[in-house]
Amino acid sequence: MINKLHQARAFIGNTPLIQLENKRIEMFAKLEYHNLMNSIKVRPAYHILKTAIQKGEITSKTTVIESSSGNFGIALAALCKQLQIKFIPVIDANINSAYEDILYALSYRVEKVTERDGTGGYLLNRLQRVEELLQKTPHSYWPNQYENPLNYESHYYGLGSEIAHHFETLDYAFIGVSTGGTIAGISQRLKEKFPHIKIVAVDLVGSVIFGGPPKMRHIPGIGASMVPKQIERALIDDVVMVEELDAIRGCHRLFEEHGVFAGGSSGSCYHAIHCYFSKMELAQRPKVVFLCPDGGTAYVKTVYNDEWVAHLRQKEHVTN
Ligand code: PMP
Repeated sequence: MINKLHQARAFIGNTPLIQLENKRIEMFAKLEYHNLMNSIKVRPAYHILKTAIQKGEITSKTTVIESSSGNFGIALAALCKQLQIKFIPVIDANINSAYEDILYALSYRVEKVTERDGTGGYLLNRLQRVEELLQKTPHSYWPNQYENPLNYESHYYGLGSEIAHHFETLDYAFIGVSTGGTIAGISQRLKEKFPHIKIVAVDLVGSVIFGGPPKMRHIPGIGASMVPKQIERALIDDVVMVEELDAIRGCHRLFEEHGVFAGGSSGSCYHAIHCYFSKMELAQRPKVVFLCPDGGTAYVKTVYNDEWVAHLRQKEHVTN
């Protein structure tokens, strides 16, 4: 069964790490949308499925069930297709319509949660739906990206090592957070090689991961309405909270200034980097890396759509 994953392996990892022009800092972006299915999330998806097959937890009879806002679900859907096993993603109304179309095309069935939970997000209700499905589906397997240590491990060995090998010295890494798997894996790996590096977590205002009050959010992929378990393993020096409208501005600037057409969490990091260093006296140009976990194509009806952005601006204006 594992042989069916070998072909996919060729399209995972070793993504481009490019320098972006900037006068005050040496800025580098790791373009994770060059992975299979166009996102960072194929790394944990591959690692989790492969390990479960090796342990006999996944067989040809298995149905994989997972809560995902899009990227992880799409990665799992593609890999389950190759493995010829069933996959049921539990999605919510925040999902990009493009992602939704892909999930409907590649999955055995899609479960959509439309009720927001007590925090204004969907995550808690999505996880409850997963529990229900697991109970009634024979031979079901739950990757559980929020708690599974293989999520963080995939980033420690994969992404973290790729970045570590690229640099002789590195001063800062800016990383968007949702399950916390990426920041946990990368921070551990990078601090081994660069003990003085500062790891800056980037989150959206309204996400509760770092203790802020919950608020409705509209950009998928980044933020969470609970504190994920993986975050305990992350070695974080600073946190930058970004407003959604600033994340959108960050996306547009990243595209216009550097030609990097990326998703909401990439724009959040780009904005966070500018805020972070704007007030800082810099004796030397620090070396800064950030991630672009997915591409902009999936965001053409939201982040890159003027009408959608104007609507969000109006809503923010009313609620503020
Ligand atoms: N950005 C995007 C676009 C994502 O899909 C994710 C994963 N949900 C993240 C950032 C955050 O990664 P993690 O879940 O590992 O914290």
